[in-house]
Amino acid sequence: MIAVRHIFILVCGFFTILCADPIDGYWQQRVNYEMEITLHDSIRQLTGTTVIKYTNYSPDSLDRIYMHLYPNAFQLGSAKSREYIGYAGRLSRAKYFKDRLEGFTSKIDVHDFSVALPKEGASWIHKIPILDEYKIDDTILEAKLLEKIAPGQTVRIDLNWTHHVGKMVERAGYYAGQYNMAQWYPKMVVYDEKGWHADVFHAEGEFYGEFGDFSVKFDLPEAFIIAASGVVTDGDPGWEAVTVDTSFDFNVWLDIFNSSYVEPDSNARRTVTFSAENVHDFAWVASEDFLYEGGVSSDGETDVHVFYDKERGEDWTKVVLERSIRAIDWLEEKFGNYPYPQITTTDRIKSGGMEYPMLVMNGSEREGLIVHEYGHIYFYGILANNEVDEAWLDEGFTTTQTSHYLMNRYGEHGFDLELDDDYEKFPNRYYPLGHDLHSDQWYAINFMRSGHDENISRSSHLFNNGSAYRLNAYTKPALMLNELKYVLGDSMYYGAMQHYFDKWKLKHVNETRFIDAIEEFVGKELDWFFDPWLHTTRHLDYGITSFKKSSNNTSSWAVELGIKNEGTRYMPLLVETEFEDGSTDRRWWTNHLWRFEDTLRYAVDKKPVAVTLDPDVQTVDLDYRNNTTRMKKRLLFNWPGLWYEPRDERVYRWMPYVYYYADSSDFAPGLTIDRDYGPYESITVRANYALQSNNLYWYVSGWRQPVHILPRTTFYYWGYNRPGVKEYGGEIEKKWNRVYGRTPTHTFAGGFYVQPEYDASRASALGYDTSGKLAIGYFNWNSKLGPLDLSLNGATTLNPVSTWEFNRLTATSTFKYKKTLGMKNKKRSDLNRNFTLHIKQRFTGGKIWAGDLGVPGQEGYNIEGNSSNDMLRKNYLVDQFYGQDSLFLHYHMPGEGNLRGFVGKKERGAEALMATSSEFSIYKNLSKADITLELATFIDAGLFWDREKIEKNDVEELNNYFTKRTLADAGFGLRLNTSIFEKDLYLRLDFPIYIFNGDISETNFNNWLFSFQRSI
Ligand SMILES: [Zn+2]
Repeated sequence: MIAVRHIFILVCGFFTILCADPIDGYWQQRVNYEMEITLHDSIRQLTGTTVIKYTNYSPDSLDRIYMHLYPNAFQLGSAKSREYIGYAGRLSRAKYFKDRLEGFTSKIDVHDFSVALPKEGASWIHKIPILDEYKIDDTILEAKLLEKIAPGQTVRIDLNWTHHVGKMVERAGYYAGQYNMAQWYPKMVVYDEKGWHADVFHAEGEFYGEFGDFSVKFDLPEAFIIAASGVVTDGDPGWEAVTVDTSFDFNVWLDIFNSSYVEPDSNARRTVTFSAENVHDFAWVASEDFLYEGGVSSDGETDVHVFYDKERGEDWTKVVLERSIRAIDWLEEKFGNYPYPQITTTDRIKSGGMEYPMLVMNGSEREGLIVHEYGHIYFYGILANNEVDEAWLDEGFTTTQTSHYLMNRYGEHGFDLELDDDYEKFPNRYYPLGHDLHSDQWYAINFMRSGHDENISRSSHLFNNGSAYRLNAYTKPALMLNELKYVLGDSMYYGAMQHYFDKWKLKHVNETRFIDAIEEFVGKELDWFFDPWLHTTRHLDYGITSFKKSSNNTSSWAVELGIKNEGTRYMPLLVETEFEDGSTDRRWWTNHLWRFEDTLRYAVDKKPVAVTLDPDVQTVDLDYRNNTTRMKKRLLFNWPGLWYEPRDERVYRWMPYVYYYADSSDFAPGLTIDRDYGPYESITVRANYALQSNNLYWYVSGWRQPVHILPRTTFYYWGYNRPGVKEYGGEIEKKWNRVYGRTPTHTFAGGFYVQPEYDASRASALGYDTSGKLAIGYFNWNSKLGPLDLSLNGATTLNPVSTWEFNRLTATSTFKYKKTLGMKNKKRSDLNRNFTLHIKQRFTGGKIWAGDLGVPGQEGYNIEGNSSNDMLRKNYLVDQFYGQDSLFLHYHMPGEGNLRGFVGKKERGAEALMATSSEFSIYKNLSKADITLELATFIDAGLFWDREKIEKNDVEELNNYFTKRTLADAGFGLRLNTSIFEKDLYLRLDFPIYIFNGDISETNFNNWLFSFQRSI
């Protein structure tokens, strides 16, 4: 079968060359490579000899040629390094450049370079050299020619080169015994109707290649097993020697394999030749630890190869081959016949995933990743877009087909419930499953509303940052295609995609070619759909403004539906009418174009009760609450760590809630209910009834965000009568980043709160002054910048509501730095023998300017920790550990002075402070038990000023009566961190054995305190 197909491809190739292309005016260059490659493993070097036959099918004469030398980007000073050190690309990769690429540099040296035309009629043995001069700048080789390459002419390019293989930073390089060789050879730059695409290799952005045939002969140590684009045409790639018998369990067959495998002589070499036809790139992977499994696609036409590392065999065996076969079957069924003889999945030890013709390098065995990368062999490989300029044409397409595959196969949650990794997790097993499409929609909506949105159609390196690239290349175009499927219907959508595939396979595609192909098949103009999506940041938000129904004389009902476009993009809408008996009617509203308001009138034969626009939530409608006259509701128990955020339901979460005050044996059972909808609103309502005192406690708090205006602005409100205090308040908060998703993040907030009444029996135990009313206006500024966190808080009493009168300004900075030391296992993180050093430092300074009455305890600076309203918000503190006073006296709530050694010592508060806490700890992650164990030492110290609480009538004298205290403590601590039901659980034990209080210093091994919060 495969041999037959080879001939077919050859004939087709020949035919293409001889005949005019069936697409009017379309042409593409052809580049055939013959390479001989030697791998020198001991010095991580490739030497190569390349012969390229470059045929100019363009109508232009070319006076120069260009080549990519991609590995050169991994050097300090390259465009890529400059961009990473700026703000572009992924942070995880930028790190290598910021660390000066120690061990990670790579480079191609070109030794001999010539360009020649054949002597007329003669073979390449007699050549006419036409190279004038060439220069290499960054990743681009530019060669000027003495004679132009005329249309139809073929030139021969010869070069010898050396590739110094660096450790892997992005997709290519050496990593943990593997050579991941992508973009590894001097590669011709594409010349198309827009001219040469001699783009330097940016921090963000992938590739564009010319179609041609590759014949690559490798000479490498025999111990290396090699997988590559193409088929083996000569020699032995080593697969048979590492083929495993998977009819046994993994551990059994690995033992069998290990005992029978004969390690090749370390000096022995293998030579093997791979040939690939009609591809625009060629990649290979070699490893000494590969195992091999092989199969064939369901139509029997495509060989499927799987290579994986021995250490990951347990996860990869059998399933990756099954998933690979399923993925290629799906792609062939949905889009068209796979034109190559084989497809290969390789195990890339470094995480991530990347596609090349006929071969993918995958950092995990996950099915979604296999389907995504195989999808790329269609969208990028066969339909060869320019990934630099139009990344959405491959990433968007393969992202949407992957999500359709997963939902089609596993249901709306989009993953395999049978898999231990996913299903065994408590939330997936017991909590409601989310909707794959909805989470993508929310992800995009949050970005669209952030004020940082950009157009999809933009070169990868021109997006403002990595998040914008990711959202515009992957998420948004995937959702656009999903909307296209919604507008066209499944069968028309796949028909149109097949037409696009059929027309443009093995050619270069772009936006126009794609849209024209779809329009051609559908027979409709679709610019109204694509233009706003691709070239603007317009948003979609339709809403129902009115819903009138009236009974006609006959047994039918007339419906009049007011539809309003609150957004700036247009869409036809599927309208679902629900009847009393639960049945529904669906029809399309298609009066959408260039219209912001409309009335849809229709008749139905039963009494309608509700109407919904886009009932299957297929569009990226920003606000679904106005899409329906009856929003669905879901009531759930509020499990810890529950995360369930559908787009078309309001979620109610309930939980019992109890107060218990031991002193009066007062037990107050109650219930708390949260009602949430996405990023727009949340409200918590709680009521408790105290059986002894007959008090009714209540609590309401919530927040809202506007949909279309004031990006990243949240309005908070609250009011409650809970044990200890009554309070009302409100706050406006605005978040701001220069670069979306990256620090520095600035948060500005302004608000007020009023506390008209206190419960003396409980609040005074927390250090509260309960003798008056408190009303405060405040502002906060907080900024996170890498390891540094800065905040400034200003507060003033709102008089005359407030009994007290004071102003307060507090500044706090915290610094946290982590470094992992020890042995790291590159292949399996669970075998790491390492521990992490953690340095934490906090500084706070502040002053209160107060009237005669001074400042109440809750608003003054507490020496040992936090006495502000945060304490009241912790139930266990208000209830003083339900009567366990001794625990309460040992509890540390961090904040303010933060001198933990003074917990329970009733040290008087202060009106001005300068205090610092430092912690130095080492911690170890016991991954088997899922516990982090931390051992810390700490020093807290501070200067505190205050007026002693003595009767003074003379204000002047009072102000002169400020006293200064110097306090400090030091000790060591233990912390345990784990998660239960996916919820973080933290316990801190501190032993402040040294305490300094003015002149007195004390060493006491009996001091201890505990907390559920981190000290800094
Ligand atoms: Zn991708």
